[in-house]
Amino acid sequence: MRDLARYFACFLAFALTAGELVTVPGAREPDGHSRRGKDGSFKSSAASSRTQTPQVQGFQERELETDYWLEQAQQTLAQKLATPHNTDHAKNVIFFIGDGMSSQTVAATRMYLGNEANFLSFENFKDLGSVRTYCVNRQVSDSSCTATAYLSGVKINYGMVNIAASVDRYACEYDRNASDFEGLLKWAQDAGKSTGIVTTTKITHATPAGAYASSANRYWENDVEVASSDCDPSRVDDIAEQLVDKEVAQRFNVVLGGGRGNLLPKETMDEEGKPGYREDGKNLIEQWKQTHETMGRSQYVWNREQLMSVDTANTDYLLGLFESGHMKYNLELKDNSEASRMEPTLEDMTRKAIELLQRNKNGYVLFVEGGLIDVAHHETWARLALDETAEMAKAIDTARKMTSEQDTLIVVSSDHSHTMTYNGYPKRGNDILGLGDISDEDLLPYTTLSYANGLSYYTTYTEENHAIRADPSNYDYKQTDMRYMAMVPMDAETHGGDDVGVWASGPMSHLFRGVYEQNTIPYLISYIAQIGDYYEESDSGAGQPLAVCLSLLLGCSIAALMRR
Ligand SMILES: [Zn+2]
Repeated sequence: MRDLARYFACFLAFALTAGELVTVPGAREPDGHSRRGKDGSFKSSAASSRTQTPQVQGFQERELETDYWLEQAQQTLAQKLATPHNTDHAKNVIFFIGDGMSSQTVAATRMYLGNEANFLSFENFKDLGSVRTYCVNRQVSDSSCTATAYLSGVKINYGMVNIAASVDRYACEYDRNASDFEGLLKWAQDAGKSTGIVTTTKITHATPAGAYASSANRYWENDVEVASSDCDPSRVDDIAEQLVDKEVAQRFNVVLGGGRGNLLPKETMDEEGKPGYREDGKNLIEQWKQTHETMGRSQYVWNREQLMSVDTANTDYLLGLFESGHMKYNLELKDNSEASRMEPTLEDMTRKAIELLQRNKNGYVLFVEGGLIDVAHHETWARLALDETAEMAKAIDTARKMTSEQDTLIVVSSDHSHTMTYNGYPKRGNDILGLGDISDEDLLPYTTLSYANGLSYYTTYTEENHAIRADPSNYDYKQTDMRYMAMVPMDAETHGGDDVGVWASGPMSHLFRGVYEQNTIPYLISYIAQIGDYYEESDSGAGQPLAVCLSLLLGCSIAALMRR
């Protein structure tokens, strides 16, 4: 027994020091944020902010050695044992959502970046949990019921934003006082923190809308959409109106994304010559400018050059809208210098937002969405989905480097999964976006990545006979917008119902461990940042010594009086 205890103590001591003693032979591969080009060289960020598809590599020689795997596992254990919990509260919170970033998407992106063993930047975070994403009335959720869960802490019905599950979708009238929710951004503002939202989609799209709007239909992004559901736009505020009218949204210090169309009237052309969508004649961008002129130093920008030249030290409110609809895919801009000049990357926007928000001594809460992962998956454009995932990993890496793990909590998650699978038995180093294996039934090759449903059904099977597959080796999977195989015909590929990951770094990140419901996330954040329900508690905690002091003083005075 004593020998066993000695052995255990010896092992523990080894494990605690192994982080320094054990060296893994060979150099590590570059992390997910690398800007490695096709020729293997590293591009400086000044030369281009766009990603090049890295060179595909096979396994490394050291993987043949048993000791490599044993030492790697021991090193990971040692690091875990040697890392203490950070039990501080967070001054700042940055919450990233990769829309539709399933675990398959994360795994495939490692290979997209050159090696199955790669880590995306957030995979180096200390703590990982897993959340269930169903909404109240659907097994497989959409982005609006999930945004409500992870931003406001309540699961609701499919297709709705921040309205209780007792209210039906498309309801024009309901008791707003009883049914509308406040969320993370409002809690932060009430605690004196600065706030911001950033997305690569329309700023009125379901995910960012979850940060400020309540709507009985996620697609009520402008007055025309409200009217099309037979509701009166003069009584039902569309999501774009809420972005400029609602107090929580007016108080956002940073709003960056796409979606000018929903804020402009039909008769008004935006800066790039595209007409607005509104029929009520409201120009909400002008309205935002007027409102914020009275609130502080404000600026509206519509292209990357303008954004990069914003003086964040002298700006209190920043609105940047870079497209009429969703922003462009990173790969769409890669070889287009004019478009790159016009449109910032997610990393650019995240950096600017942090620069502006970090001026508040009370801290900030920033919400960032990598929204085009989902948009690409719906089209079965796997290459674009992986590239957008890599882009988000880059933005997260920058956010972590710009902030301190001691006072800034970074949480990374997804809203829901997708139907993309990573399948077959392809050899190590095989192009993740190419053909993976050959079917032992129809003897045709198939791609490593494929979808359960989607528009690509029509290119997966032959036109003459939908029971016979088309030969995928006839397709050029190097094309950016090549669609990947799908089994069931659907105009837009659907979401998936499997759990998604939650990666956390910074104060109390250990609270994010385990498997739990998605609506737990904002409560964990609010506790760690001492906002929302926990703001008062922190105040009373700070007030306690004063109360004790005052009662002691009162007691002393009474005693002195009685002695007289
Ligand atoms: Zn979606």
